Amino acid sequence: MNSFVIFEISCLKSNSERAKFFLTEIAGGTSAMNMANLHEYFTTYHRPVWAEIDLDGIEHNLREFRRILPAQTQIMAVVKADAYGHGAYQVAQTALQSGASWLAVALVEEGICLRRKGITAPLLLLGISAPGTEHAVLEHDLRPMVCTVESARRFSECGQAMQKTVQFHLKLDTGMGRVGVRPDNLPTLLDTISDLPNLEMEGVFTHFAKADETDKTYSHLQIRRFQECLHRIRQGGFAPRFCYLANSAGTMELPDAHADMARIGISLYGMYPSAEVDPAIVHLKPVLCWKTRVVHLKTLPPGEAVSYGGLFVTQRPTVVATLPVGYADGFRRRLWKQHWHVLIRGQRAPIIGRICMDMCMIDATDIPGVMVGDEVVLIGSQGAETILADDMATALDTINYEITCLVGKRVPRIYRRQGEIIGIESLLGEHAA
Ligand SMILES: *Cc1c(COP(=O)(O)O)cnc(C)c1O
Repeated sequence: MNSFVIFEISCLKSNSERAKFFLTEIAGGTSAMNMANLHEYFTTYHRPVWAEIDLDGIEHNLREFRRILPAQTQIMAVVKADAYGHGAYQVAQTALQSGASWLAVALVEEGICLRRKGITAPLLLLGISAPGTEHAVLEHDLRPMVCTVESARRFSECGQAMQKTVQFHLKLDTGMGRVGVRPDNLPTLLDTISDLPNLEMEGVFTHFAKADETDKTYSHLQIRRFQECLHRIRQGGFAPRFCYLANSAGTMELPDAHADMARIGISLYGMYPSAEVDPAIVHLKPVLCWKTRVVHLKTLPPGEAVSYGGLFVTQRPTVVATLPVGYADGFRRRLWKQHWHVLIRGQRAPIIGRICMDMCMIDATDIPGVMVGDEVVLIGSQGAETILADDMATALDTINYEITCLVGKRVPRIYRRQGEIIGIESLLGEHAA
């Protein structure tokens, strides 16, 4: 497991369209099979589009949260949606090595996936476990979220059948209006739970709707409701070990909400929950870079159309560079209309014409010396320029969360730790480390 391999990736300059990868085994233990697979993958199949995941950034961001949290507050790393597009397994491993003691995902499948890869840390399901999934949940030692009488019954029955005590986390809806029991329905739910065997209320939590906004009035109302519910719960004879409220924004901006645990999602990945939170509270480093290379170059005379619909027409002799990335990879079609750009040779170059499913074109006329094989940054830094997921989100009138979540599964994730590549995940599976 811990035999390390360094892959020195060097790309053929100039007119080769294919990245070439040199693999060097440094510490033994990697099977010849792996090496052969990797070599085959990168020399035979690889399209030059990839996301680099800086796992040191995960460690850094967690250290920042540790610095502002009381010592007794545990950290739950939220790795749902494949760790917001970063890769759930590698992020979970790194987070657990870097101070997080809990994990959270949305789906039963996401939890099972992590268990199959050997993750043993306590793992909370944030979403509703559909009727019929109870056995799978308990078999994989996942902590279900419970907020209805029906789900409490189902888990109790399944727990009896499996002769297990079900450690569940009760979700309170203090103002999000999504999942969770409303305070007025709490007494009935508590009565039911008290009467049911094989249930143990291990946690109680709620979720903020507006912790990322400057005005914290609503969050304070939610905290107050949470405390009232907690009082009821304790009066009912329950003694949950973990009572907790905060997401990333709440953890940064609401010390009153630190409690027993903090659920850190977006900021684990080095992004701020919104432009309204104070960025001075924790210093975050973005974890994901998204890159590609020029695969084709041509010069078009003035008056020629580019891409579907011919909506972009050249006004001058134009060097058109084709990139092998498109909306099926999450490079959103609407970016062209937003006059979006990419980084190449340290400069910004505009997208021209509609973004296609697997390709798009940029105007490289003003990029001296541009060549096939040149690295292009979609998200990340090059030279003195940077494009943040936040910038792309603003252009698309959405939030940074959505940008990284939508980086498609066709884009291999290359994981770096202390400067070295420790693993690669692609459509063809996982490689090495
Ligand atoms: C996604 C989610 C989080 C994480 O929120 P961030 O804003 O990404 O930190 C926390 N709690 C619940 C219930 C969630 O669904």
